[in-house]
Amino acid sequence: MSPLTHLVGSWLVAVATTDNPRDRKLVTLAGVLPDADGLGAAADVVGSFISGKECTFYYYQTYHHLLLHGWPAAVAVSALLTIFGKQKWRVLFLCLLTYHLHLLCDLIGSRGPDAGDLWPICYSEPLFRHPIWFWKHQWKLDGWQNQTIFIILFATAIRLAVKKGHSFVEVISSHLDSIFVGVLQNWCSKFRKPAGLTQT
Ligand SMILES: [Zn+2]
Repeated sequence: MSPLTHLVGSWLVAVATTDNPRDRKLVTLAGVLPDADGLGAAADVVGSFISGKECTFYYYQTYHHLLLHGWPAAVAVSALLTIFGKQKWRVLFLCLLTYHLHLLCDLIGSRGPDAGDLWPICYSEPLFRHPIWFWKHQWKLDGWQNQTIFIILFATAIRLAVKKGHSFVEVISSHLDSIFVGVLQNWCSKFRKPAGLTQT
């Protein structure tokens, strides 16, 4: 699934299972960080631009879904994030949970454009080659299933943000989050205002 779907979904899990902003951000991050192994695409594009050669996406193809989409990275990243947590055992468990939720979502919904373009989860990479998991019914990355899931998650997250005063943007910046939530709450208050009270 897309990084944005992982972000919103992980944040919803974190909201439901943590009781402070720091732990909430850490648990959300754990659900997003697996896709950091796709950042090789940026190096590919920059390298191609500098060299003038055709972009082959070598680093992206070589490392995406291999470096950070297995249990070794899940354990390492979750342990690292737990260092910064308040309720450490809880954070460790929840980070492992959102990390694996990411892997599960990729297993069911990350297929390429062609029917045979399945994307596996190599669960022990980069330490061991096996096991390698496929799901033959894996749906397309931009398929209607992923789009429907995203719309539901996003709508739920927006509703919660208005109600609770924070959103998934807090993972990027608390300042940006307060602006984002402020705009949302402003919109909502206008929609909720009875028509008879509107000034003319
Ligand atoms: Zn992923």
